[in-house]
Amino acid sequence: GKLVYYFGKTKTDGDGKMKTLLGGKGANLAEMTAIGLPVPPGFTCTTECCAEYYKQGEKLPKGLMEQVTKSVTMLEKELGKKFGDLKSPLLLSVRSGAALSMPGMMNTILNLGLNDESVVGLANSSGNERFAYDAYRRLINMYGDVVMEVGHEYFEEAFDKIKKKYNAATDNDVPTEGLIQLVEAYKKVYRKHTGQPFPQDPVEQLALAIEAVFKSWNSDKAISYRRIEGITGLDGTAVNGQAMVFGNMGDDSGTGVAFTRNPATGENKFYGEFLVNAQGEDVVAGIRTPQPVAEMPKWKAPNDKTIGKKVHAELMKIKDKLEKHYKDVQDIEFTIEKSKLYMLQTRNGKRTGPAAVRIACEMVKEKLITEKQGVMRIPPNDLTQLLLPSFDPAGKKKASPLTIGLPASPGAAFGKLAFSADEAVDRAHAGEKVLLVRKETSPEDVDGMHSAAGILTSTGGMTSHAAVVARGWGKCCVAGAGEIHIDEKAKKIKVGGKTYGVKDVLSIDGSTGEVFAGEMPTVEPKLGGHFGTVMGWADKYRKLGVRTNADSPADSKRAREFGAEGIGLCRTEHMFFEGDRILAMREMILADTQPAREKALKKLLPFQRKDFEGIFKAMKGLPVTVRLLDPPLHEFLPHDKAAVKELSGATGVSAKEIEVRVSQLHEANPMLGHRGCRLSITYPEILTMQVTAITEAAINCRKKNIDAQAEIMIPLVGTVNELAPLRELTEQTIEDVKKAKKFTGKLPILIGTMIEIPRAALTADEVATQADFFSFGTNDLTQMTFGYSRDDVNGFLPDYIDQEILEKDPFQSLDTSGVGQLVSMAVEKGKSVNAKIKLGICGEHGGDPASIAFCHKVGLNYVSCSPFRVPIARLAAAQAAL
Ligand code: ADP
Ligand code: MG
Ligand code: MG
Repeated sequence: GKLVYYFGKTKTDGDGKMKTLLGGKGANLAEMTAIGLPVPPGFTCTTECCAEYYKQGEKLPKGLMEQVTKSVTMLEKELGKKFGDLKSPLLLSVRSGAALSMPGMMNTILNLGLNDESVVGLANSSGNERFAYDAYRRLINMYGDVVMEVGHEYFEEAFDKIKKKYNAATDNDVPTEGLIQLVEAYKKVYRKHTGQPFPQDPVEQLALAIEAVFKSWNSDKAISYRRIEGITGLDGTAVNGQAMVFGNMGDDSGTGVAFTRNPATGENKFYGEFLVNAQGEDVVAGIRTPQPVAEMPKWKAPNDKTIGKKVHAELMKIKDKLEKHYKDVQDIEFTIEKSKLYMLQTRNGKRTGPAAVRIACEMVKEKLITEKQGVMRIPPNDLTQLLLPSFDPAGKKKASPLTIGLPASPGAAFGKLAFSADEAVDRAHAGEKVLLVRKETSPEDVDGMHSAAGILTSTGGMTSHAAVVARGWGKCCVAGAGEIHIDEKAKKIKVGGKTYGVKDVLSIDGSTGEVFAGEMPTVEPKLGGHFGTVMGWADKYRKLGVRTNADSPADSKRAREFGAEGIGLCRTEHMFFEGDRILAMREMILADTQPAREKALKKLLPFQRKDFEGIFKAMKGLPVTVRLLDPPLHEFLPHDKAAVKELSGATGVSAKEIEVRVSQLHEANPMLGHRGCRLSITYPEILTMQVTAITEAAINCRKKNIDAQAEIMIPLVGTVNELAPLRELTEQTIEDVKKAKKFTGKLPILIGTMIEIPRAALTADEVATQADFFSFGTNDLTQMTFGYSRDDVNGFLPDYIDQEILEKDPFQSLDTSGVGQLVSMAVEKGKSVNAKIKLGICGEHGGDPASIAFCHKVGLNYVSCSPFRVPIARLAAAQAAL
């Protein structure tokens, strides 16, 4: 088959769409050639060759070198030079390039084809001896480094000696005779470390270089990069052989890299750097400090006074042409050989979230792309960067992280260390900025978490309690930073051999998981006009509603500002933890008769009513789905001696009795235990209290002309036989409250359930007879479908991802092929008996773009996610609809 694709004047086999086969670099070199840009000709060995190379136990595929040789012959004809010629040799670069860009992860070799004889020929034919030896020393260095794995430092040492000898500050200050000596020195280094002389046969050089690029596909750093970026399913890298052009031929030559627009801010301004008399990686390697391209017009060469102006003008033309052609920001590499500009690479430029938004808006305005294309351009998750304060990138560049944990909740936070929730609350009240540092957090820590500027834990994963709660609040959190040793008693942490205490400040970056010593400067987000424009487009095209998970008026208000169209999940358990409420709650749990329980519940009622009133008010007539109490009761009980004593004092129940009750309530598997609707079956008075509070709040609001839209959600239903009596009790309670409050107006309250137990999904046609709505609780549904405890999954999940047993964390992105089947089945079955049933999702997945696309596809009415993810969900929903 066809293993090698040619690009040049003679013919161009490939095009920009063939990235899978030719790699991004190869496909775009073909495309640029085809649209008439000045690209040195060359050829691309396909990614399939790389796959074949590994399949055959690291051997070049049969026929590859024959096809390469044919391409080289074509190049020779086109350029009038011969590869391996001794007088005026054609030189080649051999460049890696996979379908997805992996910058700097794989290998490139320049100036291939030089040897001891042809270097003299090159010196003569170019009339530039210095250049010829500069090219040769670079070849020996790169070839040794890449093909033979000779440490780069050995070459550096040799170079340093020569530089010293000639008192040269930079590479460019070394005179020609120095470079000639350097070539000899490099050959010695090569021989010493490989046991062989530097290969003089250009064809052998070429074959080994191609093989070395294939090998670099499986280098450690390339493998790590693919793992971190979640790149899977690629064949391998392509290899590009390309005629060399030389930026190191003197003051009328140079090389550079640029972005057609600023990739950090999105500003429509050509942005880049270049170096005069330099080759290849010199610009990015930081050997010399490059100049901004904006200064290029000032560049003058002795033999060409207007070189800078001409090249700059030409670059600007090419920039426009590329943007018009690709309709996106391009990241380009170019080289100038004796005043002539060549394009060596183009690809879509990586950019920050704010830049993505600005670029999309401006390109739509410039009519370069349509509004719909604009919507598709922005990675929804990157919007996060626009919503939260972040560390100043300049500051981060200067520091190096102490350790890196899981990026559990994005944002940037710094503060002095606090080691318990109470301490965090107290010190925050006293005006201090604190980071709450815990091994892991429990529901009892919520106050402390709320008060802290950020949360840092040494165990726990992305769906740990701390992470979920922090994301809901938009609070910065780094979880599972396992290298940190926490000594709670001594109030000290140890990391990287250093110790930090209550007076020390750390900074945590919740977007990357990085932990830094000291205070890192931050920059506040600006929700400028571009953001609003993008959100407007999103709302125009999406079909899915977007609600939020919120359980306080403040969160509700913020979510509404971010565009939430209702609350899809108002958890009520958090409401039992604040202040005195926890005492009343504990009193209720300790009570052993129904009347005693009812008495304690009565104390809680006014608190709940007030909470709901606040939320209904904040949501201004938008629907609010309230979930009845869900966690097992023992979560609310005191777990240490001091707390038991306090409770005993407050309730008059003896410490001993409390301890007995605590152990009675202990469950081996609390997540599969006495929780959710099971609580309401055994203690109906809890449901009655909560429904009373909701109904009274709704009526009170209506009396104040606030159009409260309550939806009551009964969690953890597995059979319709649970839901039926609870629905009846709920309806009865609503009627009782109406009667008691003499309310005769309209009060539409929907009653529905969560679908989070597989059995409920399987029997959704029965469950739907008792439900006005379904809300898919995909956290529990995932947990119960896989049988993975979501609190413990971090013990093995990383191995599962590494070994590609799972493609991604199913708690973060819905497992559409497994858990998704239960969702779509429940949708169908539910609709078959109740055509009007409302369908939503309220798990963590409601804010995940891939999961949102699935929700759109199966026909849900809305997704619900934490407030800070609402804009992300709006955009992702629009993308799903386009
Ligand atoms: P990477 O993928 O790491 O960017 P490249 O294959 O782009 O590696 O090569 C790195 C650099 O080598 C290029 O930016 C360019 O400056 C130089 N280079 C590659 N091929 C050629 C060539 N044919 N002529 C001149 N310079 C080249
Ligand atoms: Mg490159
Ligand atoms: Mg649940």
